[in-house]
Amino acid sequence: MGFYCPNNNSMNKPLKFKNKDQSAFLSTLKERVDLFFKNGKVSRHANFFMILKTVFFLSLAAGLYFVIISSILPLFLQLGAAILLGMTMAFIGFNVCHDALHGSYSSNKKINGSLGFIFNVIGANTYVWNLTHNIVHHSYTNIVDHDEDIEIAPGLIRVHETDKSNKFQRFQHIYAFFLYSLTTLSWFFRKDYVKFFKKQIGDSHLNKHPRVEYFKLFLYKAIYYFLFIVLPLLLMSLTWWQFLIGFVAMNLAEGLVLGLVFQLAHVVEDTEIRQAENNSIEDAWAVHQLKVTANFAPTNRLANFLCGGLNLQVEHHLFPKICHVHYRRLSAIVRQTAGEFNLPYHVNRSFFSALRSHYLFLKRLGKPIRH
Ligand SMILES: [Zn+2]
Repeated sequence: MGFYCPNNNSMNKPLKFKNKDQSAFLSTLKERVDLFFKNGKVSRHANFFMILKTVFFLSLAAGLYFVIISSILPLFLQLGAAILLGMTMAFIGFNVCHDALHGSYSSNKKINGSLGFIFNVIGANTYVWNLTHNIVHHSYTNIVDHDEDIEIAPGLIRVHETDKSNKFQRFQHIYAFFLYSLTTLSWFFRKDYVKFFKKQIGDSHLNKHPRVEYFKLFLYKAIYYFLFIVLPLLLMSLTWWQFLIGFVAMNLAEGLVLGLVFQLAHVVEDTEIRQAENNSIEDAWAVHQLKVTANFAPTNRLANFLCGGLNLQVEHHLFPKICHVHYRRLSAIVRQTAGEFNLPYHVNRSFFSALRSHYLFLKRLGKPIRH
């Protein structure tokens, strides 16, 4: 008892969370959250607003795609539309697919499956996401050698004292943002394949894929490449380099949005990046999550609309099976309960204060080490 050991069947070296004395925090919090839904007679899944939001983002993306591919706009406006499409696809990932793939969008598996499938269409493989995000990142958040999300660009970006240091990293707080804009180009053309064919993801997860996933990996990638490379080249009267400018601009915009939102929740001044000792973390899992996760702009309506609950990452990590539209109201309960148990609850009041905190974190870790 007192141990949280997620997903035993994928374990290589099982990492344990242990601190018996802290288990009351999560049980108290769960009771209060259960009561919130019960008393309010509210479902934990999508509400009407969430459905409207889904229709909005999906229609916007489909509309932009058809406007671009039908070449009805002058070239410079097509470029603007491509940039907007890139950002919209990032928002679809945050708001629709992320929830669906956690199973929090609906109680109906088919609805989650169908909305989750859109992730493949916009370039990211859902099966690999389930391994890297749902299993590994959510279980071992910010733990060195376990959570590969903090291996942002090994050798180029240093986030922990144990990472090797080099002289370029003194500029990492500047060039990191250029690297973030490469997020989707790297993800759709390289990362998914690398993670799939690796022996293990982090020290804890051994890869063993069902055979059909090999086939699906290539088939789903082919759908994205066809829709976003082959079809535009066939239908649009563009030279190859004009197409390339649009495609790269779309991805740089999408990558920057994704990269920033991912980093501001776990890699800021307040959040810890931890190292396991003897394969264990001296905290209960829920307490660990509070130490390694931070919210940003929690009361900003635009951030709440666009980020799909990723700006309320504390609530998301504690309750990934609850749809993100409820996080804003749950945050008061989580914050109060954390306070009662004398536990941290990290918040950056605005997007820019989180950005500043991330910048300062990178600057500090990039400083040359004196021997
Ligand atoms: Zn998640």
